[in-house]
Amino acid sequence: MEFIDLKRQYRRMEKEIKEAVEKVLESGRFILGEEVELFERELAEFLGVKYAITCGSGTDGLMLALMAIGVGSGDEVIVPAFTFFATAEVVALLGAKPVFVDIDPATYNIDPSLIERSIGKRTKAIIAVSLYGQCPDLDPIMELAEKFGIFVIEDAAQSFGATYKGRKSCSIAHISVTSFFPAKPLGAYGDGGAVFTDDEKIAIKIKALRNHGQIARYDHRYIGLNSRLDTIQAAVLRVKLRYFEEEVDLRQVVAGRYDSLLREIGIEPPYVADYNTSVYAQYTIRIKDRDRVVEKLSKFGIPTAVHYPKPLPYQPAFGYLGYVEGSFPESERASREVISLPFHPYIGIDEQYRVVEALKEVLKG
Ligand SMILES: *Cc1c(COP(=O)(O)O)cnc(C)c1O
Repeated sequence: MEFIDLKRQYRRMEKEIKEAVEKVLESGRFILGEEVELFERELAEFLGVKYAITCGSGTDGLMLALMAIGVGSGDEVIVPAFTFFATAEVVALLGAKPVFVDIDPATYNIDPSLIERSIGKRTKAIIAVSLYGQCPDLDPIMELAEKFGIFVIEDAAQSFGATYKGRKSCSIAHISVTSFFPAKPLGAYGDGGAVFTDDEKIAIKIKALRNHGQIARYDHRYIGLNSRLDTIQAAVLRVKLRYFEEEVDLRQVVAGRYDSLLREIGIEPPYVADYNTSVYAQYTIRIKDRDRVVEKLSKFGIPTAVHYPKPLPYQPAFGYLGYVEGSFPESERASREVISLPFHPYIGIDEQYRVVEALKEVLKG
């Protein structure tokens, strides 16, 4: 059994993907180009946003979003304490200071009620991460941003395809970013990412920033990055986007099956807020004795993963910020208890039975 089986998805789309890649190989154009432009148009249409700008990775997308709003030395950016490293890494890389906020234990997303006390004169933005496939409660976060005149960036690396109060993730914040890392809900065959916004000025700037700050060939308006989407990745992603809505439905079916199997053995399934739909980038539950369970499950041949074993403020790279243990109780508890189960749209019910049976055995002993 694989944690995420990308080969099964490939078997299903193999013919179309091969044709799409072959077309790029024959074209002799491998950076940006027509496939990328078409993909960007299709992304914008899918989300109902004005602008979609692809780039080299989700991490770069976050960096581009921060650069576009001028985040730099002396600025502060609010980020959840419990997320993938990249969310806060890009803030620090630009010379700004990540200010960590604890999470809501039910959704694992930033707790909106804890944000205001962390907003100060230097605060430029809030990065709202949509962890495991569902959005945080974005309305109060957008209201705070409005009140203090700051930006909200949605880190939607795990939530492309999800909805919040009927609106699509990636279409709500001032700027949203997703990742096409292969294991994400919409994954490429390599790295890739995209930035979304309805703001024309920001879109134009990001488009320049991803390509050495050029507004026209050899006319460099900004100091930028080399962060463009490969044409081959765009061609692959265009095929996968055609299947995507169906895959989101499959993800919800798979999650529903896990939900009921887990309830039967007395385990609480993941909580999805009633205003949300989740794309289950991860299917994550809590277990008190997590590390022992991970080890035992692996002996039964069940792969699992821990997203994430340590809150970001306590990562050695952020040691310079001086956070002390105990400052983020919910992030700390989550990092001790969470475990993600094998999950992808094509997992069979027989495999899900095996996972839950093994879990039952392990928890007994
Ligand atoms: C994957 C991920 C990223 C980074 O995306 P890459 O494409 O791997 O650079 C950022 N934030 C979150 C929450 C992620 O899950």
